[in-house]
Amino acid sequence: MIIPQILYRTLTSADSQCVKKVAWNFGFGAARSVSKFKKRMKRGLFFPPFLYISILNSCNLRCQGCWVDVDKPREAIDLDDLNRIINDAREHGNRFFGILGGEPFMHPQLIELIAQHPDCYFQIFTNGQLITDKKARQLRELGNATPLISIEGTEIVSNERRGGKDVLTRTLRGLDNCLKQGLLTGVATSLCKSNIDDLLREDWLRKLIERGVHYAWYHTYRPVGPQINAQLALNPEQVRKVRQFVVDMRAKLPLVLIDAYYDDKGQALCPMATGISHHISPTGAVEPCPIIQFSNDSALDSRGIYQTMTQSSFLRDFRETAARNTRGCIVLERPDLVKSLVEKHRAKDSTIRKTAMLELESMEPRPSQFIPDEAIPEKHWMYRLAKKIFFNDFGVYSELDPAAYDRAPGRAVNESDGERSSSSKNAAA
Ligand code: SF4
Repeated sequence: MIIPQILYRTLTSADSQCVKKVAWNFGFGAARSVSKFKKRMKRGLFFPPFLYISILNSCNLRCQGCWVDVDKPREAIDLDDLNRIINDAREHGNRFFGILGGEPFMHPQLIELIAQHPDCYFQIFTNGQLITDKKARQLRELGNATPLISIEGTEIVSNERRGGKDVLTRTLRGLDNCLKQGLLTGVATSLCKSNIDDLLREDWLRKLIERGVHYAWYHTYRPVGPQINAQLALNPEQVRKVRQFVVDMRAKLPLVLIDAYYDDKGQALCPMATGISHHISPTGAVEPCPIIQFSNDSALDSRGIYQTMTQSSFLRDFRETAARNTRGCIVLERPDLVKSLVEKHRAKDSTIRKTAMLELESMEPRPSQFIPDEAIPEKHWMYRLAKKIFFNDFGVYSELDPAAYDRAPGRAVNESDGERSSSSKNAAA
């Protein structure tokens, strides 16, 4: 019965313009772009239907584990260049764009960008603190953007995790401005050791529902960047618990729950390896994904983003190498492979701090979303269907090395005793 409840909640709380735009620009538009993506794949051409663009590096917070150069001089992609990227992607069927930073609401041309592409749909990854009532109203009038607001813990944990004061209070103020204006609004959390017990709970999701939030997204903390804070990373048992919780709550609560790491059968996948998404950094560098901060191509290149990405041997080699070696995260599980790919292609460090290789060399292999021991399939038919059609591995793991199941760090490693189980081969069946 959750679908009628979700529809009722959406239609009675969201502005009608926002509902129309999400249904058409995202519902129909993004779905069509995935089918175009699949057709291109058959011709050996990879251009992601979901482009993620970090429009600037600046941010008003300093989060633990952030890989963005938030403390460095501002780098931003200006409106003309952003329009060129979006128009070229749009010509090839794309309608959805993920807008990241730094903090996107610090970019002076964000609203103008969204206004100039009324048939596209934008998901803005934000800490919510700069979303005033006026900004929220402007977004409502446009209707083609959804703020995805990150909440990383209770007030105390938020201040610690995000390096600020009153962090949660200020974020909730921005969230309420969005909900008051009837924006389709989501809440994201990067689950880690310091917030999993507070936020991976049914009563937390019910609080979000009561507040009027429309969807939620649980990421898992990636210990990368200049200060990796590895102690915060989840262990395989916790990663499995997250997956089980999400599947259970999807079948129980009138709140859409997003994930980007599992197909309908619960098999792990990497969005970069499937080619469904790639990333553009604040300097315009084309990167396999946000945490692989190396590049050989620029989105500002006169060829345009479509040619640049479809012709990139660096991106292709990254996708294929990842898909041959793990269903999980190549950065976490095989930093050695990332290093060898960067050296093979003589790719440049695309950070402003220029320490990406040092950071990579200091990384130890660690578990990711790939838990070979067991796949937890979707319980609810709506998610099963949506993933079957629009979000799965698109067959890219057909050449996955069977030994990947044995060597995956995510096997049931009990951190305290280092014991390993031996049932991985079953998962391969
Ligand atoms: S490489 Fe890792 S962080 Fe990047 S898209 Fe894949 S799973 Fe996600």
